[in-house]
Amino acid sequence: MQDRPGITLDPEDWEAARGVAHRIVDDAITRLAGLRDGPVWQQMPDAVRASFAAKVPQGPTPLAEVYDELARTILPYAMGNKHPRFFGWYMGAGSLTGALGEFLGAIDASNLGGGDTGAAAADRQVTGWLTALMGFPQTAGATLTSGGSMANMVGLTVARNAMAGVDVRTEGVTDLPQPLRFYTSDQAHSATQKALEALGLGSRSLRLVPTDAGFRMDTGALERMIAEDRAAGLRPACVIATAGSTNTGAFDDLVSIGAICRREGIWFHVDGCIGALVRIAPGSRHLVAGIEAADSLALDPHKWLQTPFECGCAIVRDGARQFQTFAMHPAYLQEQPRGLAAGEFLADYGFDLTRSFKALKLWMSLKENGVARFGRLIDRHVELGRHLTRAIQADPRLELMAPTTINIVCFRFRGRGGTETELKALNTEIMLRMQESGIAAPTDTTLRGRHSLRAAINSHRVRADDLDLLVAETIRLGEALQPA
Ligand SMILES: *Cc1c(COP(=O)(O)O)cnc(C)c1O
Repeated sequence: MQDRPGITLDPEDWEAARGVAHRIVDDAITRLAGLRDGPVWQQMPDAVRASFAAKVPQGPTPLAEVYDELARTILPYAMGNKHPRFFGWYMGAGSLTGALGEFLGAIDASNLGGGDTGAAAADRQVTGWLTALMGFPQTAGATLTSGGSMANMVGLTVARNAMAGVDVRTEGVTDLPQPLRFYTSDQAHSATQKALEALGLGSRSLRLVPTDAGFRMDTGALERMIAEDRAAGLRPACVIATAGSTNTGAFDDLVSIGAICRREGIWFHVDGCIGALVRIAPGSRHLVAGIEAADSLALDPHKWLQTPFECGCAIVRDGARQFQTFAMHPAYLQEQPRGLAAGEFLADYGFDLTRSFKALKLWMSLKENGVARFGRLIDRHVELGRHLTRAIQADPRLELMAPTTINIVCFRFRGRGGTETELKALNTEIMLRMQESGIAAPTDTTLRGRHSLRAAINSHRVRADDLDLLVAETIRLGEALQPA
């Protein structure tokens, strides 16, 4: 058979491709270096939006033209979390090194489901580092996931199977001898409920424990709920403690909760997607005392470690149990003593089979910066949280809506005051105008029925004067909107 040219995806002209690739890298660096001078976010004009209605192209377009189009229609309308004044939800800002890691991982192209590769060695090394940083033994299982939601899902699946009282892998959840109960605070992230629903346990299996004035789980109430459930013939299976809540950055008392779990024979899971990593920050690590005693832990390098999306991590103290939960070896996936398929399959520790080389971006960034620099960055963000809190408390037109623990600050414009409904409408409008102006991007939440603006100070590019500008803009917009 005659080989037909033109079917491969490789460029016909490698030198020309090199030129386009260099231009893409140069432009990316220019954009990152000039970030501060541009808007945090801007709305896409209708004409640009309309361009996304184009049908799938049947024929080719030169890469340079494809790039020119996306540089015009996609890149200017990014979320903005890489900007120093992005304060929304809770995200990392990414980094140039992380982006290069993402690129190199894709060029390497290894499948991290298993195999004897440099990529697998780096994946094991980086999860081993995270395991050690969190104070877990090296016999723990650890797996990189798409994010915190999947990391929680991994930990809670192992918890369910360990506590079911039946072989769930064979029997399923319909044959549980007793209904399971999971406990988490009323401030827990919605990912935990989503996980329990997907695990077939139903949202009713999740009991919400009330929180104290600092939005931390009320451990006395937790003990009463466990006793109540036992008396009612239910099986208390797992407490999900939060280390750094999404609303306010509150930390549950992990030492007390761990002790309750041990006494009661209950699985101790920690959702540390925001706060687990304070363990590497000298000024803040006391907040997660006791985290090292958890049975399972979810953390999110794509938040405080600024790893480009996606990168979460699940750690399970009993690595063998994690393996028993996920291991699956059909005829076409057999380990071998030597050769390409030698060594343990990484896919045996989670849901995904084909896995990207996401370890590389974190591996490179940890090598380049060292853990100590990330620890200082975390402490710096916590200090900036205090700076913003002081500025809010110093101005009678503003109101602090929750105690600040780390880098999440809840506040609102009060001005001359008003009803809850009026203040909600006013502050929502302040938020939307600020986002649309491109000056800063806070988001909002509701705390015990009271609407609040919310600033998560988590870009590694943020400075104190960015927070001063957030305060000044809140007041300027608030006063302009509140009729005299
Ligand atoms: C962000 C977050 C999650 C979800 O993590 P993703 O990476 O967004 O999937 C879960 N729990 C907490 C506390 C979080 O802050």
